[in-house]
Amino acid sequence: MNMGGAHGRDFGLVCRDASGHNGVQLKRTGRWPSGGLYCGKACMTPTNQGSIRLLRLAGIDLYLHWSWFLVAYYGISQRAGTYASPVWNVLEYLALFGIVLLHEFGHALACRQVGGQADRIVLWPLGGVAYVNPPQRPGAMLWSIAAGPLVNVVLFPTLLGIAYLMSVAGLAETMPNASELLQAVFYINFALLIFNLLPIYPLDGGQILRSLLWFVLGRAWSLMVVTVIGFVGVAGLILLAALAQSVWMGLIGMFILLNCWRGLRQAVEMIRAARAPRHEEFACPHCRMHPPCGAFWICGNCQQPFDMFAERAVCPNCAAAYVTTGCLDCGAPSPIQAWLPAEPDEQIETV
Ligand SMILES: [Zn+2]
Ligand SMILES: [Zn+2]
Ligand SMILES: [Zn+2]
Repeated sequence: MNMGGAHGRDFGLVCRDASGHNGVQLKRTGRWPSGGLYCGKACMTPTNQGSIRLLRLAGIDLYLHWSWFLVAYYGISQRAGTYASPVWNVLEYLALFGIVLLHEFGHALACRQVGGQADRIVLWPLGGVAYVNPPQRPGAMLWSIAAGPLVNVVLFPTLLGIAYLMSVAGLAETMPNASELLQAVFYINFALLIFNLLPIYPLDGGQILRSLLWFVLGRAWSLMVVTVIGFVGVAGLILLAALAQSVWMGLIGMFILLNCWRGLRQAVEMIRAARAPRHEEFACPHCRMHPPCGAFWICGNCQQPFDMFAERAVCPNCAAAYVTTGCLDCGAPSPIQAWLPAEPDEQIETV
């Protein structure tokens, strides 16, 4: 993100990762994180709807949200006059989102590497969202999150190298606009790195901190701690936005605040579920955990919470039947039949 001050821009970018929803799979209470994160729709992140599919690369679909064009127009016109021709302003704006895109690919590819799912990246005015669903292990989560900012770290010497070559070739004098653009891209990359590393959940820095705490405190309490830290951080950010009278920073602050609140609710739900009695007759085919007893699933159709296993994957309120049921412990969706032990021996073992 560019913090508004640096280089006189007034736009900001948040890198956010969101768990993807596959098909008719249910949404879980408190937007249970299938990526340790939150559901897109409910917290104002872009979805495929209203987005244009640009391309497919390495099995990842890239979407661009329509609102990007409006904000791009505003952002570019704000910077008019900094170059000899507005074409350079357009290039600068595209470079900004090029860096965001590389960052998101870093998340997506790292997530795949550790065995998670990542098939979609959406660009929108506040930045990029990589829909990643890493395995529910702190190490896998840590790598999936850290790989994004690492891309910006790698870009550092790359951009410096290009600048050096340009100055050696004397292009700074002959092509002042290109040189100016390169400098701007350098600052953009730096600002994105610093902003995303702030330890404010759900920014990358906050999520890295969460993954590290997960090793010590466990999945639920690590989330609880970082959301509380996040509230303090976001209060500072909103204060800064007010002082700087930056609408963009205010919007980003509100966005972070909403997600922090959601994260806190998730953590509370996780702790509640961890303490609940379990349906001993069912076991997740992936992680072998028994699902908790209680209304921990939300019907995607009527929004009523219900106990997926007590109701055998049919909503008691609207009779919507679920093809797959998400595991609250590992996030993996499986058909309800797959949750029943295949062999009686195995059941005896788990009892
Ligand atoms: Zn990121
Ligand atoms: Zn329902
Ligand atoms: Zn599981």
